[in-house]
Amino acid sequence: MDIVLYPDPRLRAKNTPVQDFGPELEVAARDMFQLMYQTQGVGLAAPQVGLNIRMMVFNPEGEAEATEAEAVLCNPRIVSKGKDKDFAEEGCLSFPEINGQVSRPIRVTVEAQNLQGQEIRLELEGWAARVFQHEFDHLEGVLFIDRMSPADRTLIKQALAELERDYLENA
Ligand SMILES: [Zn+2]
Repeated sequence: MDIVLYPDPRLRAKNTPVQDFGPELEVAARDMFQLMYQTQGVGLAAPQVGLNIRMMVFNPEGEAEATEAEAVLCNPRIVSKGKDKDFAEEGCLSFPEINGQVSRPIRVTVEAQNLQGQEIRLELEGWAARVFQHEFDHLEGVLFIDRMSPADRTLIKQALAELERDYLENA
């Protein structure tokens, strides 16, 4: 399992709902956590490893030891969003060495299914809410560069062009 880098079209492809809850899905989630910790990430969506399904893993603590903070969400839905938003710097494992300010609601309520297919509900706030929303965007084919201000986009233009060149060279 490898991280899919921008501008790979799998990052923009449609992600299908998870229907098979079984050992294969569990293995995929475990491998995604492992890859996420190896690359110092706090979240990873299935399309970022080339699986175009509606599944994500995250751990706002970013530490493999903090297992209590781990979440695997299948078929997540945002039930409600708070009105208050804030700006913070984000990175993305599919965009090495690129960061930018993104505005997001501070609170979200989420419904999803766990790895066993059971319904779960989460009230997320602050950093955890931000991490979730970043990964949720991936499931919608939306990337954090889409949410950056035009000024921030200008700052990373060169770096994006380099990723595009690398992609074409390795294609
Ligand atoms: Zn990302």
